[in-house]
Amino acid sequence: MTAERLLILGGTAEAAALARGALARFGDALEITTSLAGRTACPAPLPGRIRIGGFGGPAGLAAYLIENGIGRLVDATHPFAARISTEARLACEATNVPRLLLLRPPWRRHSLDRWIEVENMTAAAAAVARIGRRPWLTVGASEIACFANVAGVRFLVRLVDAPRQPLPLQSYEVIIGRGPFVLAEERHRIERHAIDVLVCKASGGAATAPKLVAARELGVPVIMVRRPPAAAGRAVESVDAALDWLAGLNPPEAKRVE
Ligand code: NAP
Repeated sequence: MTAERLLILGGTAEAAALARGALARFGDALEITTSLAGRTACPAPLPGRIRIGGFGGPAGLAAYLIENGIGRLVDATHPFAARISTEARLACEATNVPRLLLLRPPWRRHSLDRWIEVENMTAAAAAVARIGRRPWLTVGASEIACFANVAGVRFLVRLVDAPRQPLPLQSYEVIIGRGPFVLAEERHRIERHAIDVLVCKASGGAATAPKLVAARELGVPVIMVRRPPAAAGRAVESVDAALDWLAGLNPPEAKRVE
């Protein structure tokens, strides 16, 4: 019997956990390929095949699905990676490849949290200097330029890879780090750098949640950029549920963020 081919759209801890779980559960019955955009210099090791780089839009992805005989697709990309998720929906609709979204459960606000929720990074940049002088940016590398005109603050910027060129910010310091992060260290970072406001995306998940707990404990406000709406389609919110779907079961549907 030939193995079914699974394409995982990845770049997240959940995608890596799904590749490991699928190998453990289905062994040789499933041929796993994880697709990465190629944003990080040294992606963490993954079981199965890895392909790196864009497909060239929905038509390119549809062609890839056909040419590689992909039987199923799991979109386990980051909640803010909205473009690739739309492209996956369109490509799977065009090719009739069954698709599942693995949606990271959102963070729940605690009564002691001081979150200021904003719609996008531009709104976060407009708010930041009104709230603090030592903002900590944990928003990834691609949208740093939104903060280019913010004056009178010194940013602490956490990135996965060291930047190859100066960041487009007026005053900043970079720290390098990849999750999962530890509460005691996040608390220490806030204190050591005298952080008075944290800026982050409402990504959800355990790996980057300790900074929010540290901010809560230290009374630091958080500018929280809301998630874009998730792509339409069947969605689950755990790796185990995605594995059940791959096994032909009918796992519970994820709750969607409004
Ligand atoms: P995006 O804006 O949704 O996608 C931009 C383009 O990058 C897509 O049109 C596609 O190019 C390509 N692409 C994205 N993800 C891909 C994948 N897994 N495999 C192959 N091509 C991919 O994506 P993004 O926000 O830049 O995120 C890129 C990757 O980083 C994703 O895999 C995501 O899971 C991961 N990530 C993102 C964030 C975040 O905050 N956005 C955080 C952590 C990890 P083509 O049109 O040419 O196919």
